[in-house]
Amino acid sequence: MKVTIIGAGPAGIFTAFELGKSGDMDILLIEQGPDIDNRHCPMMRLGRCTYCKICHVTHGFGGAGVFSDGKLDITPYVGGNLELKKKAAAAGIDFLEFPVRHLGTENSVRVITNLKRTLKRMGVKIMFNTKVKGIKTDGETAKGVVLENNKEIDSDYVVVAPGRSGAKWFSQEIKRLGVEAEHNPVDLGLRVEVPKVVLEPVTEIVWDPKFHIMTKTYDDFVRTFCVNHGGYVINEVYEDFVSVNGHTMKDNKSENSNFALLVRVKLTEPVQDAAEYGRAIARSVTNIGGGKPIIQRLGDLLNGRRSTWSRIRRSYVRPTLRDVTPGDIAMAMPYRFVTDIVESIERLDYVIPGVAADSTLLYAIEIKEYSMRVKVNQGMETNIKNLYAVGDGAGISRNIVIAASTGILAARSILEKEGYVWEPNLPKRN
Ligand SMILES: Cc1cc2nc3c(=O)[nH]c(=O)nc-3n(C[C@H](O)[C@H](O)[C@H](O)COP(=O)(O)OP(=O)(O)OC[C@H]3O[C@@H](n4cnc5c(N)ncnc54)[C@H](O)[C@@H]3O)c2cc1C
Repeated sequence: MKVTIIGAGPAGIFTAFELGKSGDMDILLIEQGPDIDNRHCPMMRLGRCTYCKICHVTHGFGGAGVFSDGKLDITPYVGGNLELKKKAAAAGIDFLEFPVRHLGTENSVRVITNLKRTLKRMGVKIMFNTKVKGIKTDGETAKGVVLENNKEIDSDYVVVAPGRSGAKWFSQEIKRLGVEAEHNPVDLGLRVEVPKVVLEPVTEIVWDPKFHIMTKTYDDFVRTFCVNHGGYVINEVYEDFVSVNGHTMKDNKSENSNFALLVRVKLTEPVQDAAEYGRAIARSVTNIGGGKPIIQRLGDLLNGRRSTWSRIRRSYVRPTLRDVTPGDIAMAMPYRFVTDIVESIERLDYVIPGVAADSTLLYAIEIKEYSMRVKVNQGMETNIKNLYAVGDGAGISRNIVIAASTGILAARSILEKEGYVWEPNLPKRN
């Protein structure tokens, strides 16, 4: 049986890995980017990657997870440090604690290289620098793929794992093929940067603390995301706007910590496309920032004035990202978001004293756009028979572990269809 997998990120790699355990499947993994050994981002080492189109941060073997700092939320268990939970509850905040394994960017590359060797040993064929242009179906069943050079590859199953970088392409394919899908919400907000010592009381207990807040004025859902202790704020360059993100290096630490504060936006009617709404706001922030993200001290935002480099220099938090424009976030973001953000920071200050200091730096805009959410069954199969959709590009996952898990589910579903049973960890022919 032949299986074609589109995209060699965590979702695609783990689909191939699980299928490879069978020993007799014909597995082809197609990746538009280069092999792991040929992926480069010189600026990442300096903590200054801009996610530009020429570096290989989101494309290539390993997907978008390779140059991430590899925070792995390893179980869905939600426990909690009692004291922190109590403090958060008193401030009306939900505190979620997940066990996290931190690989560090350098180790992520090593792990992915080893995974590639394992796949090769299992007999998985991998095509690099090869883009899939289209998915072939007969209207009801997947039949294979068409490459950019118009070469057709037939297969019995197609697993689509294109990640966020391939989401636009996949959403066009979804429409063309009649795959059932719906719009996902968008998360819109800022990156908050404070001195390392401010977050230490929390990060000493939990590596990547997650707080969930319902805001007072609008009853909107706001969450903290991707805490980088001793990390850097970085640029993310998109087609028509610039946003920010954050990361930590295992060895090269800064004096600051940063985290995202994101407001969830779901649209119902007359417009459902929350992602496009989010992009429109991101474009407006980029315009007002003269093509760069805006940086503002919290004190300046609260006092209704723009930040300037001289005000920032007088402040005691040194920005880790300097390719930014000091400005006024309230000029660019809707009132509702600014209110949500300010209320959330004030609430967080009860749990993490110092977060609401005047000198706290805010970088706008951070946007987490999720792909169209493809409707799949428990085995990740779409309404088109033998067409599977997994990972971030299918709008089903948002991190490395869940993306990989969806790949494993798809592989197991295919193996079960082919008559394999699990004994207990390896698939065996029934
Ligand atoms: C800066 C950054 C930091 C992050 N940090 C973390 C973290 O610490 N912890 C965490 O859990 N998650 C993190 N993430 C998110 C994580 O990387 C993703 O959730 C995960 O990689 C999704 O896996 P995926 O396989 O679905 O997609 P991806 O990893 O995006 O892989 C998809 C692959 O498909 C390829 N592709 C797309 N379209 C085509 C096509 N048409 N033909 C051929 N190939 C195609 C792409 O080139 C890509 O290599 C981070 C992401 C970024 C950008």
